[in-house]
Amino acid sequence: MRNALSIVLFLTLTSFAAAQQFGGPAVPVEKWTGKTIMLIGAHADDDANSHGTLALLQAHGNQVYIVTLTTGNVGTQDPNLSRTQLAEIRRKEELAALSELGIPGDHYINLGYDDGLLEFEDRKAVVENLVRWIRKLRPDVLMAWDPGKNYQRWHKSDHRAAAYLAADAARAAMWRLLFEGQITQEGLKKYMVPEYLFYNDYDHEDENTSVDISAFVDKKVNAFSHYISQYGPGWKHYNPNPPEAEVKQLKDDARSRVRMKDGKPIEGFRYYKGLPDALGK
Ligand SMILES: [Zn+2]
Repeated sequence: MRNALSIVLFLTLTSFAAAQQFGGPAVPVEKWTGKTIMLIGAHADDDANSHGTLALLQAHGNQVYIVTLTTGNVGTQDPNLSRTQLAEIRRKEELAALSELGIPGDHYINLGYDDGLLEFEDRKAVVENLVRWIRKLRPDVLMAWDPGKNYQRWHKSDHRAAAYLAADAARAAMWRLLFEGQITQEGLKKYMVPEYLFYNDYDHEDENTSVDISAFVDKKVNAFSHYISQYGPGWKHYNPNPPEAEVKQLKDDARSRVRMKDGKPIEGFRYYKGLPDALGK
């Protein structure tokens, strides 16, 4: 009996400790201010999962930066668009979307890799590039595709690559002797990212944080309506000035996808705090 009781007590304490360690942030995201937030994504629109949260953070006096790895120069079914044209369109759309969220254009950083083939790039070069931006921006919070809790998470190709590249870069940024030239030649300093918000587009089982985006749903919906080359008829036949009905349809679709929890619109994340080596816990 005494043993059974100790086991119950042990299990209760360890699950409490786990909840403390891997629960949401001590200060809710809705109350964050004065922080630098850096989001790493593969494509223009990867940040759309988090647009309500990004608008909220921007409105609450945080500095939000979006680092997108590829130019998005492949993802179309329109037979008339070239890669160069598509890259230009995706950049314009992303800047318009970020502007709806109040994020300034010079906070959008595109690293220029080719869409669809991110995992075949030279990983060391991409990580070095990301480490440079982490050391420059010194984010309090890094947002990225979730590389997985305990085990790797499957994502479609570029998202899978972006998840690991972001996690690998966060880890590398803290070591002075990795990409040492950035420190000895470029005046940067090593940096350890202290907090993370991982996003994911459809599988929410690892989430431990919900952000109430009630006041920012309209901004999220309006931002999404700028991705006309990625969704709706513009995916097959791009029209830079789509009819109003098409834009309204994009907005309606975006609004219908907003997640609800306890009667409030939310976005969900897996929050992690600590050494990058344990990101998967
Ligand atoms: Zn994407």
